Amino acid sequence: MAALNKSRNLSILNVLFYKVNYCPRVNVKRNLNLQEYHSKDLLRRHQVSIQNFRLLDSKLDSKILSDFKAKEYVVKAQILAGGRGKGHFDNGFKGGVHLTKNPSEILPLAKNMIGHKLITKQTPKEGILVDKVMVAESVNIIRETYLSIIMERTYNGAALVASPAGGMDIEAVAEKTPHLLKTVPIDIYEGVTDKVAIEIAEFLEFKDGMVQKCAEEIKKLWNLFIKVDATQLEINPLVETDDGRVVAVDAKINFDDNAEFRQKEIFALDDVSGVDPREREAASLNLTYIDMDGSIGCMVNGAGLAMATMDLIMLSGGRPANFLDLGGGVGQAQVSAALRILESDPKVKAIFVNVFAGIVNCATVANGIVAACKERPPKYPLVIRLEGTNASAAKKILEESGLPFKIINDADEAAKAVVKLAQ
Ligand code: GDP
Ligand code: MG
Repeated sequence: MAALNKSRNLSILNVLFYKVNYCPRVNVKRNLNLQEYHSKDLLRRHQVSIQNFRLLDSKLDSKILSDFKAKEYVVKAQILAGGRGKGHFDNGFKGGVHLTKNPSEILPLAKNMIGHKLITKQTPKEGILVDKVMVAESVNIIRETYLSIIMERTYNGAALVASPAGGMDIEAVAEKTPHLLKTVPIDIYEGVTDKVAIEIAEFLEFKDGMVQKCAEEIKKLWNLFIKVDATQLEINPLVETDDGRVVAVDAKINFDDNAEFRQKEIFALDDVSGVDPREREAASLNLTYIDMDGSIGCMVNGAGLAMATMDLIMLSGGRPANFLDLGGGVGQAQVSAALRILESDPKVKAIFVNVFAGIVNCATVANGIVAACKERPPKYPLVIRLEGTNASAAKKILEESGLPFKIINDADEAAKAVVKLAQ
C-alpha cells in the first residue's frame, strides 16, 4: 500500500508539472501544507529561533494583543502561498506584510487584510481569502538569507539548499546568479554534521560568532525536518538581526503524505478552506481531482494517462476542464462518485473516460458509470474508452445498459469525438 501511495504522490507531481507548463493560470494545489503560524509553532517546539506572535481572526479582538508589546510589529496575512510582501488585496490595499511601530495601527492593518483576497505571484489570479493575520514582534534585519531542506530525487535523499541572497525569489537567484546557491546532499543517517552546518553558515556569509549561531539553527531545522517527516522545509528569509541573532522570519513546510499515520497531530492542522470543494470531495474518496480551464471533463487512471489524454484532447483542438484520476484498485461506488464530481464542474460540456486498466478493472469502471447514469441521467455526452483488464466485459455492460454512451476503442478517435461534442 505504501508503494501505491508513493506512486500516487509522484503522479500528482507529474500532473502538477503538466499544469504549470500547459495551463499556467490554474490553481496548483500542494500536498499538506501548513499556514505560517502553524509552521512556526512547529519551529518553536523544535527550539528554532522565531519571533513571538499572536493571531487575529475575523473577530479582530484587541484583547489578544493587550499583553503583547514590542518596539515594532510585523502584521502578516496568513495564506497558503508565498510572495505576500509584494502582493496586493482585491480591495486595493497593497502588501500582505506590514511593519508598524504604533500598536493602534495593528487592527486597521488587519482589517484591510481579513475578509479580503490577497493576490500574489503564487496565488490564483483572483487571490486567496485571508481569514487570519499574524502579528509578530518585528526584528531589525541586517541580512536576509535563504535556507531549505528538501527530499531530492537526484540525491536519493535529503539536501540542504542555501543562498546568501535570501528574501527574494530564489528561482531568480538560481537562474541569474547560480553561484549564490549551494546544494549539499545530506546522509539521512548521519544528519547535518557540525562540519556541514558550519560550511553552510559560512556560505550564507555569517561571520565570527554568528557562524556558530547559524550552524545551531541549521541543525535544529534538520531535526525538525526529520521528526515531522517533511519533504520540504523552506526558510526564506533566515535573517541576521542587528542584535546578533539568527531568526527564521518566514517558514514553509510540506509533509510526506505517507507519514500521515504517525503525524496525525500535524495532518489534523490541514487547512482546506482554500481548496476547491471538488478536490476535497475527491480526496475524501481517495481520488485525485485536478482543475483545469477547458470544457472536457476527464476520468483517467494514472498521471501518465492523464498527460497522454491531455495531449490527445489538445491535438484535437479541445481543452480539458479537469482530471479525475481513479488511481489503482478503485471500486464501483468511487467511479460513480467520480463521475458526479466531474459533472458538477460548470465548465464541463462533455466527458471523456479514458482508462487503460491494469490493476483497475474495466468492468468495475463500466458498472460505476452505468449505476451513476441510471440514478441520474448524464447531463453531458460521454465518450468512453476502456482498454485492458476485462475490457470486453465492460463494453458489454455499457452496451447493454441502453444508455447513449459513445464507446470508442481508439484513443485518437475518442479524443476527436469528445472535442466535437464539447463544442
Ligand atoms: P512572503 O512575502 O510571503 O515571503 O513573506 P515573508 O514573511 O518572507 O516577508 C516578506 C518580507 O518582509 C521579508 O523578506 C522581509 O524583508 C520583510 N519582513 C518580514 N518580517 C519582517 C520583520 O519582522 N522585520 C522586518 N524589518 N522586515 C520583515
Ligand atoms: Mg518569504
